[in-house]
Amino acid sequence: MANVLEVLQAAGLDVEAEPGWETRRASRYSFDPNPGGTLGMIVHHTASGGSADMPCRNICVNGRAGLSGPLVQLLMGRSGRVLLISQNRCNHAGRGSSEVKKDLEAGRDITAEFDAGQGAYNAKALGRGNDFKSGNRVYWGLEVENSGTGEEYSQAQVKALVKLCAAMCAWQGWDHNRIIHHREHTSRKIDMSYTGPLREYIQKALANQRWQVPKSAVQTGKTASPKTSDASATLRKGDKGDHVVTLQKALNSIGYKISVDGSFQATTHLAVRRFQRKNRLTVDGIVGKQTWSRLRAKQTRPVVTTEARPYPGQVIKRGSRGPDVRWCQEHLGVRLIDGVFGKNTERATKQFQERRRLSKDGRIGPKTWSALTNN
Ligand SMILES: [Zn+2]
Repeated sequence: MANVLEVLQAAGLDVEAEPGWETRRASRYSFDPNPGGTLGMIVHHTASGGSADMPCRNICVNGRAGLSGPLVQLLMGRSGRVLLISQNRCNHAGRGSSEVKKDLEAGRDITAEFDAGQGAYNAKALGRGNDFKSGNRVYWGLEVENSGTGEEYSQAQVKALVKLCAAMCAWQGWDHNRIIHHREHTSRKIDMSYTGPLREYIQKALANQRWQVPKSAVQTGKTASPKTSDASATLRKGDKGDHVVTLQKALNSIGYKISVDGSFQATTHLAVRRFQRKNRLTVDGIVGKQTWSRLRAKQTRPVVTTEARPYPGQVIKRGSRGPDVRWCQEHLGVRLIDGVFGKNTERATKQFQERRRLSKDGRIGPKTWSALTNN
């Protein structure tokens, strides 16, 4: 049976597989990547600024404070390049609409429903109870690099996006309805910000292999499309000039201590080699495309929009009672959900904290709450 990497490559996408993608996982809980194992795919935007291709690479692979990585299975750069991070369960979805889940399971056409809910299918307005179902075990996730604040989704990006979604659908045996926005999974989120008729494009792509993304698919915004800066010039030992200054400053900004003299000599060379080794790049001391791109990714530390469910404001601990405790119990997977924080809930909290490498005090403060929200 084909695996996800083969599927994406066969679709003609520019795919890079992050070493360890086969086994990297956010949780020991099951996630079956094969056809029939999951319900669909949720698309997100990273809320990253700037023009670097994949500024969120590091955070998507490794996670961030309070939320362990991987944060998503697939990441798409501004160029449309795809990074395969994992084929296992990732922390990208958290709680979402049980109605959406039911509709997908029943194979209903959901676009009209989403439209009626003006994007937020959670649709409290429609009088439906929602945000009760954990998404991470049933949805694949795709993060698309975009600021989410008016940046254009380029032709290359939309093309790759439609292609990727269609390839996943074809492989998994899904129809176009199985691709949903994070904002459609839950009203807590606003991503992804692309507003074109994504599912319609996917449907057409599935029906006709030769179908091309129309010009109108490009979502224009205030921000210009990313340009390749000429600071990406390949640099090697012996080079001199402004580009070397840029390189030296970039290295210093991430903890290296070299003098900024615009001359690529032994110390700069050594720092470059150390950086390359640490980042699993080819260790040749030459600063090419890959090294520049990784350097830029390290410099910007954007925050992925996985906003937390609001923390109640006080630590939940032994003796606490009420709906917040009940919510924690549901997320912890405690057998008896009674809204009373007793011995079993405390034990489950400690086990959860251990798994997430949080301090194991059996009390649910902001950090543990945040980890639970995105569990
Ligand atoms: Zn999201």
